[in-house]
Amino acid sequence: MGQAKINIAIDGYSSCGKGTLAKALASALNYVFIDSGAMYRAVTLYLMRHGVDLDDLPQVEQALTHVKVAFEMDDSGVSFVTLNDENVENEIRSIAVASKVSEVAKIQAVRDKLVYLQQQMGAKKGVVMDGRDIGTVVFPDAELKIFMTASVEVRAQRRFAELVAKGDVVTFEEISENLKHRDNVDSSRENSPLTMTADYRVLDNSDMDRDAQFALAMAWADEAIAANLQF
Ligand code: C5P
Repeated sequence: MGQAKINIAIDGYSSCGKGTLAKALASALNYVFIDSGAMYRAVTLYLMRHGVDLDDLPQVEQALTHVKVAFEMDDSGVSFVTLNDENVENEIRSIAVASKVSEVAKIQAVRDKLVYLQQQMGAKKGVVMDGRDIGTVVFPDAELKIFMTASVEVRAQRRFAELVAKGDVVTFEEISENLKHRDNVDSSRENSPLTMTADYRVLDNSDMDRDAQFALAMAWADEAIAANLQF
C-alpha cells in the first residue's frame, strides 16, 4: 500500500506564525507548502501597479484575466511566488501591499480565481496550506485543520521585528493598526470570512516557542495520518 497523504489546512489571524509552522510541517512530512496569502498579495500588487479601481468590478474582472500567479523554487529549494513570471516575493511583503490586500481579498471574483488554483494544487493531497479559509472553503475535507491565534501585542511585536530586521522603516503602531484592521476586515467580510468550525484544532501560541508549536502540530498530523490509513 502506498503512503496515504493528507491535506493540512492552517488558518488564523495575521502574523500568527502560520507560515513558519506550515513550512516546518511540510518539510518534515515531505509535503508541499503553499502560502495562500502570497497569492492574494500578488493579485493586490498587480491591481495596485495598474491603478485598478477596486470598486469597479468589471475593471477588476478584466484585470484578473491578465494575472498569472504561481510558485517556483530557487536552487536551494525555497519557494517564491511569481506574478506573470516575475518573482515578487519581496515586494508583496511591503506595508503598501499589506494595507490594501484585505480589501482585494473581499472581492468574490478574486477569491474564485485563487480558490480554484489552490484546489488544483491540493487535488493529489500532500499539501500544507496556510490562509484564512483553507479548512472552510478551499479544502473542507482536509484531514487536519489547525486554527492559529496569539495576542495582538505578541503578533505585532513579531511582525515589527521582522520588518525592522529587513531594513523597513515602520513604526510599531503602524504594524499593530494594520494587523487589527486586517483581522477585522478578514473576520467580518461577507465572502469566506475567517472563522473556525468544530473540526479545527486550536493552537494559541502567545506563550509557545516554535519547537513546542511544531511538536504539538506534528503529533496532530501523525494522528490524522494514522486515522486516514484506516480507510
Ligand atoms: O497570510 P497573509 O497575511 O499573507 O495574507 C494576506 C491577506 O490575504 C490577509 O489579510 C487576507 O485578507 C487575505 N487572505 C485571504 N484568504 C486566504 C489568505 C489570505 O483572504 N486564504
